Amino acid sequence: MKVVLIGVGQAGGKVTQVLAEFDHEMGFDAIRGAFAVNTAKADLQSLDIDTMLIGQDRVKGHGVGGDNELGAEIMQDEATEVMDQLDARIATDAEAVMIVAGLGGGTGSGGAPALAKELNRVYDVPIYVLGILPGRNEGSLYQANAGRSLKTVIREADSALLIDNDAWRTSNETVQEGFENINKQIAQRVGLLLAAGEIVEGVGESVVDSSEIINTLRDGGIASLGYASAEAAPDASENVNTITSLARKSLLTGMSLPNAVDAEAALLVIAGQPDRISRKGVERARKWIEEETGSLQVRGGDFPLDSDRLAALVLLGGVERSQRVQEFMDRAREANQETESRDATEEFDNEQLDDLF
Ligand code: GDP
Repeated sequence: MKVVLIGVGQAGGKVTQVLAEFDHEMGFDAIRGAFAVNTAKADLQSLDIDTMLIGQDRVKGHGVGGDNELGAEIMQDEATEVMDQLDARIATDAEAVMIVAGLGGGTGSGGAPALAKELNRVYDVPIYVLGILPGRNEGSLYQANAGRSLKTVIREADSALLIDNDAWRTSNETVQEGFENINKQIAQRVGLLLAAGEIVEGVGESVVDSSEIINTLRDGGIASLGYASAEAAPDASENVNTITSLARKSLLTGMSLPNAVDAEAALLVIAGQPDRISRKGVERARKWIEEETGSLQVRGGDFPLDSDRLAALVLLGGVERSQRVQEFMDRAREANQETESRDATEEFDNEQLDDLF
């Protein structure tokens, strides 16, 4: 899928850059543009992609310090300038725009939904948000910010693909220590998904294309992405079980939003050498995903890649009714109340969270 990425805020810019680098290193060319917008000058200076500093008259390049209402206001006030900058960067062949942001901070948390709204007014292609949720050990301000941001993101974007910062952490790292590693994992997984709908080599009936990604995300709401890979035998007939177990592993332990399997729609992509991909395995895996997610819309497709391994990517659309998402919203609501009682003068709109789902 040909996509233009716009990172908003610190995490947004960093993840946009690693995604663009991964796409370039792999030679996929699915990412047709990468741009970063921020209120903090220092965060932009460490990036190699094109950048734009906003909110200079209000925060003088120092960032909004976790104030996502200020982040939203600045994006709204400077929407015309931002849209002007984007106009030249959104390639005419782009099939989607993806805004990337950490939802727990200030600039990305407030700015991403405001930007999604603007982009949706102007462009016909789907506007997705790749949103990073704070890990459990991050403070209550992060949780509350993410809860409020998510509600607006769901309304303004065509789909919110969420990554829980706890999901792809390794060993005992704290979230802070693990950012680099998490960002690499996000880049690899999201990068593969975008490229899967793009590669045209080895075109065959079973090769996945971008319309399948778009259709899986069509109903809006929250989406998540899972991944698992394993060694594979050279002969497809020996890989029936490998493929079914990869699909299971991806859905049960590899999702970007763990334990959220009730879904409206799903897409199973098997990546690897076409000779190694067992059709019987793919069919069984799809059936299993159908049962597990309760979705009647399970799409499937191959992603021909020159590797001795096979990988399963599972994209779920419409997971907002899952228990995990409800848990997150409860956590955000609690945090919102805590933050509220700490600072009675600050006005948080709890109803916004209550009427979310
Ligand atoms: P902003 O610059 O005001 O938008 O704030 P940040 O982008 O720093 O957002 C803070 C949130 O993003 C927190 O939940 C952090 O855990 C998360 N975050 C910050 N940097 C990174 C990063 O490099 N990778 C990931 N995965 N999350 C990050």
